[in-house]
Amino acid sequence: MPEGNELHRWAEMHNTAFGGKKVRVEGPNGRFEDAVLLDRKVLKRVTAVGKHLGYDFGPDRVLHVHMGLYGDFTEGTGKAPEMRGALRLRISTPNDWLELRGPTDCSVWTTEKWNALRERLGPDPLNGDDPKRAYERIAKRKTPIGLLLMDQEIFSGLGNIFRAELLFRARLSPFRAGNEVDAAKLKRIWKDSGKLMRDAMEDRRIVTTKPADRPHKKGPALNEEAHYVYRRQGRPCFICGTKVMTKVMGGRNLFWCPVCQAE
Ligand SMILES: [Zn+2]
Repeated sequence: MPEGNELHRWAEMHNTAFGGKKVRVEGPNGRFEDAVLLDRKVLKRVTAVGKHLGYDFGPDRVLHVHMGLYGDFTEGTGKAPEMRGALRLRISTPNDWLELRGPTDCSVWTTEKWNALRERLGPDPLNGDDPKRAYERIAKRKTPIGLLLMDQEIFSGLGNIFRAELLFRARLSPFRAGNEVDAAKLKRIWKDSGKLMRDAMEDRRIVTTKPADRPHKKGPALNEEAHYVYRRQGRPCFICGTKVMTKVMGGRNLFWCPVCQAE
């Protein structure tokens, strides 16, 4: 599932290509019938909030896209290709086009519904939001921090990779109850998430290890050295050599080092 960095990158790209322009909006073969509501209208702007995208075509015409596990965009310049496969949506101008396949949701929302979603979602590290509300919520909960970080109503945009890596970088046990997490650590996680996600947007790749911590310290991170714990179960921790552990938490595999992130 794409994490917030990918969503924000798409929003930026789609703003550049289509923002402020009159666009064609098509949903071939009845896969997105409401396309007619947006077709040949001006797409004002594209906003990413957490893992949601909103394409603003004016009052009560917000195209909501949630990618889910299988959603993906294809973009290109020039004339759009022939429509193929399970295409849900195409947005195009004579110069640019994008195609969307496999999203969990692609539908036209009222402005009220979109605003309610924004209100419900927690602060997004890439939107310059104030994290205070999230800190307050975490401080009231006995739920493990590893679960709270995945809760989009606490922070939005963080997914499974960032959960594992942010906790490791903060040397915090995923099993620590929210109300027992040190406030300074929480601040550090928030700042760190913004930095890592911005880097990932630019690099189109999530790298969380510091060069000094990698077995190969020079050059770009090798794929197997890009993360401290994510999908490294059974392999030695780069810091202490202990085997990285895994366990299902919140329906997704959690990864952690039992020594660096002792309970
Ligand atoms: Zn370790």
